[in-house]
Amino acid sequence: MAGAGGTSSASESSTAEKAVWYAGGLRFQCTQCGDCCSGGEGYVWVNQAEIDAMAERLGTTSAEFEATHVKRVGVRRSLKERPDGDCVLLDEKTRKCTAYEDRPRQCRTWPFWDSNLRSPASWAEAAEACPGCNKGQIVPLESIVEQAAKIRI
Ligand code: SF4
Ligand code: SF4
Repeated sequence: MAGAGGTSSASESSTAEKAVWYAGGLRFQCTQCGDCCSGGEGYVWVNQAEIDAMAERLGTTSAEFEATHVKRVGVRRSLKERPDGDCVLLDEKTRKCTAYEDRPRQCRTWPFWDSNLRSPASWAEAAEACPGCNKGQIVPLESIVEQAAKIRI
């Protein structure tokens, strides 16, 4: 009976997705301005798999990467920042991420976080900070939902 129950939930979930205010999708195209990798104090949450992947990308060990690039925040781990607020992985000259292909889920899924999708006003607030919001092609609902589910922020 698990199959029948699963089918029913998937259908309900799909109906719920269609009811959200962004059911028609949202425009987003990163302008590569780098603003979300710098600025005021914040957290870029990372898990072990992400630490391992970024360490490999930078040609170092996970232990060394963690010692130099990661800080503990309670039981969680976040990338360190430089004194000027730049993420420790932001190249100071090019303003690009030095681990871009292996950047954490939090960076990959911006701006499709629950906190930005809560309401049109929340989305507008995100757009004030990120010039890529409301630009470019429409990202369809399915992709938004998929990205939001990767990390709950
Ligand atoms: S602030 Fe927005 S547009 Fe700028 S780099 Fe970050 S995601 Fe891209
Ligand atoms: S990991 Fe890369 S993309 Fe994420 S905040 Fe740091 S520099 Fe930016």
